[in-house]
Amino acid sequence: MTVNAETHAGGNTWQDLPAAQQPDWPDQEALRDVIAELESYPPLVFAGECDQLRERLGAVARGEAFLLQGGDCAEAFDAVSAEHIRNKLKTLLQMGAVLTYAGSVPVVKVGRIAGQYSKPRSKPTETRDGVTLPTYRGDSVNGFEFTEAARIPDPQRLKRMYHASAATLNLVRAFTTGGYADLRQVHAWNQDFVKSSPSGQRYEALAREIDRAMNFMNACGVNPEEFRTVEFYASHEALVLDYESSLTRVDSRTGNLYDVSGHMVWIGERTRQLDGAHIEFASRIRNPIGVKLGPTTTAQDALTLIERLDPEREPGRLTFITRMGADKIRDKLPELVEKVTASGAQVAWICDPMHGNTFEAASGHKTRRFDDVLDEVKGFFEVHKSLGTHPGGIHVELTGDDVTECVGGGDEIFVDDLHQRYETACDPRLNRSQSLDLAFLVAEMYRDQ
Ligand code: PEP
Ligand code: MN
Repeated sequence: MTVNAETHAGGNTWQDLPAAQQPDWPDQEALRDVIAELESYPPLVFAGECDQLRERLGAVARGEAFLLQGGDCAEAFDAVSAEHIRNKLKTLLQMGAVLTYAGSVPVVKVGRIAGQYSKPRSKPTETRDGVTLPTYRGDSVNGFEFTEAARIPDPQRLKRMYHASAATLNLVRAFTTGGYADLRQVHAWNQDFVKSSPSGQRYEALAREIDRAMNFMNACGVNPEEFRTVEFYASHEALVLDYESSLTRVDSRTGNLYDVSGHMVWIGERTRQLDGAHIEFASRIRNPIGVKLGPTTTAQDALTLIERLDPEREPGRLTFITRMGADKIRDKLPELVEKVTASGAQVAWICDPMHGNTFEAASGHKTRRFDDVLDEVKGFFEVHKSLGTHPGGIHVELTGDDVTECVGGGDEIFVDDLHQRYETACDPRLNRSQSLDLAFLVAEMYRDQ
């Protein structure tokens, strides 16, 4: 049983602090009605599941497991379909199989999924052909379409976010526990892909090896339950605090607060102010917390974040998701890792090789080079190797669809191809082939470290 945060002694301590990147809701009364309704809705995840993920991430922090966190930059309501969700999940499961088998390491799988509907923006407005409108802030806030009506923040969208998250999570739970994620399906996840793509063929060879290993174990009388289902968790950026607060409840088993909108939530680069509402919110909930760290992060910032978010120094509680850029990671990361390690904290270090490597192509498309993404991951591994610390995982923006949003990769996409299938509502994502390529290359780095 859970009860709402406000009924809990202490209340919403983050409510009166400055909160960056919040929507300018024009109708406060409508917002209050929506919040009241959301507060009456059932939780999307259970506190016990959040605890379990915290334990799994504890293994990542201790150097015993690897985190694969990935999904869309921004989920969209009109992409809540069986096909999109299945393709995304399939890609993540394939990457998980590659990393587990080729990297010989347990992989903790976490989607940017079932709640990733809100976006921080660097500019409040967008101008096209002399027309200036408020920026798109994610489907939870306003519409992507460039019209005045679509761009007005509408709190009814927060309810749609809840229902879209619930429907997505329901299908993800069905897929991951209902037989689809059974390791005996390693070939099935690749079926539509094997002929059309070099990475699909490479995957097929690995899947045959996995099959042989499983047949061997079967012949030895080993057929563990772990092969039949997969543990998969949902995460998103905790950005719109009215939404996250309305789904923050007291766990009656322990009296602790949990944000039951997702298993893990992270605080973004633009909202991690030490005296701001987002960090205060994150400090009050027991979910595993991620914080994005960009190239301007000082070691003191990192240490203060640990003080605020992980005062007990509990492995698994805090994950630092670094997003420095391929050209900066080798300069900026060592000092952070060194000082955090010296402080005795055991955080998980994860590499987001996407957000420091975005640029605008001549065509006007926001894009990323596969080689830059790869180079940032390489730099991340190099730094951890030289310090004797654990490269804990990757955080990537990807989709299971054959989009053309990032350039490069084994099945090469050129700048001139970008217009063909450029579908993202926000940042450019790796497509399925690029995601699998990355998984193979990261598995090699992991094995060689
Ligand atoms: C994101 O993850 O989509 C994002 C906006 O990242 P960051 O906060 O690191 O810029
Ligand atoms: Mn993004």
